[in-house]
Amino acid sequence: PGEQVNEPGWIKLNTNENPYPPSPKAVAAMQAELGADGATLRLYPDPNADRLKDAIARHFTMHGITPAHVFVGNGSDEVLAHAFQGLLKHERPILFPDITYSFYPVYCGLYGVDYEQVALNDDFEIVAADYLRPEACKPGGVIFPNPNAPTGLLLPLAEVERIVTGNPEAVVVVDEAYIDFGGDDIPTAIALVAKYPNLLVVHTLSKSRSLAGLRVGYAVGHPELIEGLERVKNSFNSYPLDRLAIAGAVAAMDDVAHFDATRKAVMKSREALIADMAKLGFETLPSAANFIFARHPKHDAATLAVALRERSIIVRHFKLPRIEQFLRITIGTDEQCLALLAALREIL
Ligand code: PMP
Repeated sequence: PGEQVNEPGWIKLNTNENPYPPSPKAVAAMQAELGADGATLRLYPDPNADRLKDAIARHFTMHGITPAHVFVGNGSDEVLAHAFQGLLKHERPILFPDITYSFYPVYCGLYGVDYEQVALNDDFEIVAADYLRPEACKPGGVIFPNPNAPTGLLLPLAEVERIVTGNPEAVVVVDEAYIDFGGDDIPTAIALVAKYPNLLVVHTLSKSRSLAGLRVGYAVGHPELIEGLERVKNSFNSYPLDRLAIAGAVAAMDDVAHFDATRKAVMKSREALIADMAKLGFETLPSAANFIFARHPKHDAATLAVALRERSIIVRHFKLPRIEQFLRITIGTDEQCLALLAALREIL
């Protein structure tokens, strides 16, 4: 995982956390759950986290989602892990992009899932046609983040749908960790779940709901896919979500006003940061996420990352083919973005 610094004074723009606090209603709900003496913590939590499944289903009723369509886990990483083990392991290799979330090949290694990495095009885009294979060589499954990480690029919903309809015998997992930053109208593939039984959409409360420290993620899909995930989960950990996490997550899902205000503030700061960085000569991929992926034609990315660090600003640099001249920078508060710009101006 990305580095966590705990001392004050650092501007931490390296792990795509939200710069704003979570919903005050979520904080109050966790305090209420804890009570004055913490006695509730004597008892195990609800193993099925039914209240949370209800709250998530409520949030997506306009797409025909019911609690039976919802799986919850200890961060979306755990939800993804169960999907690799329970839904993506087959005789045939699964497909995911060559530049993508670094955990996918790790889960494949852990669970013995064969995979093939599909190259992004020269503009760093996922090309839906590359995931449509002839009958004789259909993949065992497909997974990709949308928006992709670390590029921030969004694949339009119609292209997501092409991948889903082109692989009717395989599970297609769309990892939408950052989708809430994809526009005022959120272009989520949850809108397609009622139509396609092979689609699983994974979300997290770590980004748009500012709860990375609480560890809550969920998946939305056909009840039979959810049932498969439940069986893996019940063979692994009966209580992945603790009492505080369930209480806080329910209130966070219900506080739509806070969610909308924060995600819109982040999107606004993102556009301002992209424009200001362009004035310094940076080229930034169009981002639909709470981070940007930027390079400078005249300055080495690794050197820039070190120079920023000397100024107490941490960004992410991946020493990987094709992207080693990029920096991935999380959108901070406006104050943090200004500090970043001032530091970059000085370094350049
Ligand atoms: N998917 C993607 C694409 C991510 O970038 C992250 C964050 N590292 C996750 C999933 C996992 O997030 P979490 O476990 O905090 O829900």
